[in-house]
Amino acid sequence: MARYTGAVCKLCRREGEKLFLKGEKCFTNCPLDKRNYPPGEHGKRGAGRRRKISDFGRQLREKQKARRIYGVLERQFRRYFRQAQKKKGMTGAMLLILLERRLDNVVYRLGLARSRSEGRQIVRHGHIAVNGRKVNIPSYLVKAGDVVTVLPSSRKKTHFKSLAEKLGERGVPEWLSLDAESMSGKVLDYPSREQIDVPVNEQLIVEYYSR
Ligand code: SF4
Repeated sequence: MARYTGAVCKLCRREGEKLFLKGEKCFTNCPLDKRNYPPGEHGKRGAGRRRKISDFGRQLREKQKARRIYGVLERQFRRYFRQAQKKKGMTGAMLLILLERRLDNVVYRLGLARSRSEGRQIVRHGHIAVNGRKVNIPSYLVKAGDVVTVLPSSRKKTHFKSLAEKLGERGVPEWLSLDAESMSGKVLDYPSREQIDVPVNEQLIVEYYSR
């Protein structure tokens, strides 16, 4: 699956807010703390001016923001939206729940990766098992009851060794549980919208796709 490979900080500057695309690094070394204007030649010049943004513009920006946070390209994002529409409940909330259930996100949420993009790399490189079977598909959707583990052979890798001491420090969301010793986590339930701490107004995304 293709993915965005450009400079990620540019994406935050484009949205005008911190999207925490580099995970923990974003707390200590964020260029947005110093300059908060859009990228490109005209970004700085237009920064002082107040731009009037249309309803469509706001809907588009919100959709782009959610896509960037979860690292999903347009076509796949649209697929998630269609899937969410078929589910019972509020479409916007269902969309975010689907995105949260992605394996790369779960790896990040458990603290096994410092960012979602690192989570994606870890999954793709074959370090993760779900219910005892290796899964190397970052978009794999976990289900309630699934157990996500770092494969025993991978625990010797530098990344996981350095992680072992700090695992659990960040805390995990209520819908997951972590066993730091065995580097594994369980999906207790699907998250509720309230348990998803992403700065996204999902209603605007619904409006964007309902035009
Ligand atoms: Fe870069 Fe993270 Fe700051 Fe975004 S929040 S600009 S990804 S350091």
